[in-house]
Amino acid sequence: MIIFKEAKNIHEYIQSKKESGLSIGFVPTMGALHKGHLSLINKSKSAETLTVCSIFVNPTQFNNPEDFQKYPITIEEDIRLLEMNGCDILFLPSYAEIYPHHFLAKNYELGKIETSLEGASRPGHFQGVCMVVEILLSIIDCDTLYLGQKDLQQCLIIKKLIELENIHAKLVISETIREENGLAMSSRNKRLTLEEQKKAGAIYQALNYIKQNIQPGTLDELKFHATNLVTENGIEKDYLEITNLDLIPIQNWDGIKKIVVLTAVTINGVRLIDNMILN
Ligand code: AMP
Repeated sequence: MIIFKEAKNIHEYIQSKKESGLSIGFVPTMGALHKGHLSLINKSKSAETLTVCSIFVNPTQFNNPEDFQKYPITIEEDIRLLEMNGCDILFLPSYAEIYPHHFLAKNYELGKIETSLEGASRPGHFQGVCMVVEILLSIIDCDTLYLGQKDLQQCLIIKKLIELENIHAKLVISETIREENGLAMSSRNKRLTLEEQKKAGAIYQALNYIKQNIQPGTLDELKFHATNLVTENGIEKDYLEITNLDLIPIQNWDGIKKIVVLTAVTINGVRLIDNMILN
């Protein structure tokens, strides 16, 4: 695996590979890699000729300074895992490589989706996501961008960014990889004790409860029971919403429309998100 730290160098390298006809798959991450990230690397590897991963803990997408400071960093282990999984290129930029002195932040017109769910709890979060993704895609001009469904709202935001900025990358959204107890793999899980990780299996149980019990009609009672499954385990709920595929919350289901449940919770100060397509 080749490791690049400078934007200019990786950009030129990728351009030369594209000119010789190779296809580029890109997996942007914030590191502390786990099997969820590696599933994206493997998906790219099976479809593209070159797979690029980036590791950059992007400060502009953190609205909570403590969350940023405590974000797990395991670079040596990440490099080992990427090499074991056959990743071709790693981009490991410094802050100044991504946000040089002359960088000017712009405002992305993302519409309603920016301020709902994650956006409501984390003001400015998706502007920061768009900022870093647009910069990364200008450096790594990939053919295909691989993202995980675990961050479903982020996937839709990036889809919008690609349309807004006329970026030519194709988007592939990959299924959520889970622990044995159903807990969605996440770098933030590394901040939980084993006991907390066990309890956090209740998040998946709550989503599954909704999937198995949903009926046409009003959804309040179902959400109430699912929320109890989570809070009984000492987990704090931020939101649990059933929405359409544009992530607009619905109160009544017609039994036909495609819907999804999304939740965010906090366990001992660690914020976790998950979602499940219901039909
Ligand atoms: P992150 O490092 O958390 O910013 O995630 C980098 C990419 O990996 C994003 O596209 C995530 O959606 C994806 N990802 C994170 N966790 C999982 C998971 N458990 N399963 C599949 N993809 C994931």
